[in-house]
Amino acid sequence: MGTFKAWVVEKGEAGQSLAFRDFDEADLMDGDVTVRVTHSTLNYKDGLALTGTSPVVRRFPMIPGIDFSGIVERSDHPEYKPGDAVVLTGWGVGETHLGAYAQRARVKGDWLVPLPQGLTPEQAMAIGTAGYTAMLCCMALDAHGVKPDHGPVIVTGASGGVGSVAVALLARAGWHVIASTGRDGEADYLKGLGAAEILDRAELSKPGKPLGKERWAAGIDAVGSTTLANVLAQTRADGVVAACGLAQGMDLPTSVAPFILRGVSLLGINSVTTPQPKRREAWVRLARDLDLAKLATMTNRVRLEEVGRLGEAILAGKVRGRIVVEVA
Ligand code: NDP
Repeated sequence: MGTFKAWVVEKGEAGQSLAFRDFDEADLMDGDVTVRVTHSTLNYKDGLALTGTSPVVRRFPMIPGIDFSGIVERSDHPEYKPGDAVVLTGWGVGETHLGAYAQRARVKGDWLVPLPQGLTPEQAMAIGTAGYTAMLCCMALDAHGVKPDHGPVIVTGASGGVGSVAVALLARAGWHVIASTGRDGEADYLKGLGAAEILDRAELSKPGKPLGKERWAAGIDAVGSTTLANVLAQTRADGVVAACGLAQGMDLPTSVAPFILRGVSLLGINSVTTPQPKRREAWVRLARDLDLAKLATMTNRVRLEEVGRLGEAILAGKVRGRIVVEVA
């Protein structure tokens, strides 16, 4: 066993610190599959972990990074053998289990998904946790029976990772997509992904009425707080909103009015511990339904050495779309 390069979060008396250094393979945690990581990504939660802004990291030292793609090096798991291409998102990787911003990862084989046919390891991480969560939101809307002919769909945090993939998926599925963003310079980008209308997020970020004009039949919300409250208040009767994020805040200052007077449904999305069958279905659907040319337009690349400085940028809402971290 040797060493490999990794970002490492330590906790000392002065608080959390971050360093790019050699890590001893013998210090990896238990797991039945060792993976040579080829790609990772930058998600909002990675920004929280890299900066220590909220207690995402719950074990020290920690290698941050909540998702990766790569090639199996060693396996005692019946489903995987050396050379297999795999994807991992969630399960506490980068939080409680040593994570993805490293050349090696050792994890439970039960956490892995085989790289879906039709995607390269780089494309899988261009999608990453954010894009896979966008697909879980779309699947939740589908399962609830809401359809493009019921009316428009709103996507909040539209220029971010979850938002960009959600816009592309919904537009391709035939929805009239209203993209809510705080960045007026990104209107052309969002229209390129398929948005039909752009809404200034300022319209949704301040406290509003318990019920407003009915504007959309469905929503995917990556923002939470007052924004989600306003999205619910302006959802049509029997409409559905999938909530996955908290970019504005953890709070939800709403009333029961949208639920009891309009029959609106609020669906919660948790990508971290999604059971395998649904997880695999989401990846198969991503490989089938996501326009890979659009995925390319929303993706930028950085080297592993560079990711440490990007945590603050994503928390400040300055990252557009998705960032692939090239590891190998
Ligand atoms: P990004 O930072 O890429 O996207 C978030 C977007 O939200 C920003 O781009 C910005 O979009 C908007 N935004 C940021 N700050 C504010 C604010 N103060 N008020 C209103 N809008 C704001 O993050 P991700 O796409 O990676 O993640 C989005 C959210 O989803 C995060 O909260 C993340 O934790 C959560 N998430 C949850 C998962 C789950 O399992 N439930 C899985 C993955 C993500 P714009 O500039 O266009 O307005």
